[in-house]
Amino acid sequence: MLEVKDLTVDFHLLSGNLRAVDEVSFSVEKGETLGVVGESGSGKSVTALTLMRLLPFSIGKVVKGEILFKGEDILKMSDKDLRSIRGNRLAMIFQDPMASLNPVLTIGFQLTEAIKTHNRVTRKEAKEKAVELLAQVGIPNPCNRLSDYPHQLSGGMRQRVMIAMALSSKPDFLIADEPTTALDVTVEAEILELLMKLKEKYRTTVMLITHNLGIVARTASFILVMYAGRTYEYGPVDEVFYHPLHPYTQGLLNSLTRIDKKRGGRLKPILGSPPSMTNVPSGCRFHPRCNYAQKICREEEPWFEEVTKGRFSRCHFSRDGNFKARSI
Ligand code: SF4
Repeated sequence: MLEVKDLTVDFHLLSGNLRAVDEVSFSVEKGETLGVVGESGSGKSVTALTLMRLLPFSIGKVVKGEILFKGEDILKMSDKDLRSIRGNRLAMIFQDPMASLNPVLTIGFQLTEAIKTHNRVTRKEAKEKAVELLAQVGIPNPCNRLSDYPHQLSGGMRQRVMIAMALSSKPDFLIADEPTTALDVTVEAEILELLMKLKEKYRTTVMLITHNLGIVARTASFILVMYAGRTYEYGPVDEVFYHPLHPYTQGLLNSLTRIDKKRGGRLKPILGSPPSMTNVPSGCRFHPRCNYAQKICREEEPWFEEVTKGRFSRCHFSRDGNFKARSI
């Protein structure tokens, strides 16, 4: 369904050039849910915006790479071809529904516009469809809610409207970028359940971006771990969770609260912070924070290589598992 090859994205800022995404490659098969995780600044959202060709063109530039969507390179498409798939076959749910919905237009207007843009329907049919979609995403009394403005809805309701909008054209591929970040845990669980239910109903392939590994465990079949603009680990969710190959993935998992941990046991956070993208460390970008860093880690950047069938990692020691205590 989607194949990303060597995607590299630069931002030209007043303070200098920043490489936000660096030779990122991955693929997503039809019907799969890929969870993309990593700390802030790892390049997850920039990758998603580039897939939609929504980078701010004044400062963001794709330096190289391909984004093959059903075999066609999105980066080479004309604006007309892009418009025919964006929002139609390829849709996105953004992080903050309040910032994505227009505050001065009713949700009914915004939803019917989206429906009319991607379907040949009359205004009346679009309105009926909008009511149907709002009911599907669990908004009570949908007829009356059409005349509401975004500020009249709760955060969870606004995100439901965004999901209804994204699914109004039954897209083949849906990118959900931190769709539950601003919501409390109960609403988060409801929204995730709704997303997965609609994914099954419409047979949509999903790329779910999150910093929450618990969400990935519940929803995704494959996981891609990103760090400092690079891919660090990829594989089936169960295998990565039970046997992480990369020290960064191990660190992320150790810093999770888990019900199977002993009472009173302390979480083990990853020490330090992600690097500044204008000044990335030499060699392995994770080496200043890694408990197993050796001299070679500072000097040579490891490849993102297949360690066992279907499992990829970017670490000098993932293949032989010969991790030794940090010596630099
Ligand atoms: Fe740690 Fe070295 Fe592996 Fe990087 S290459 S993750 S620094 S052991």
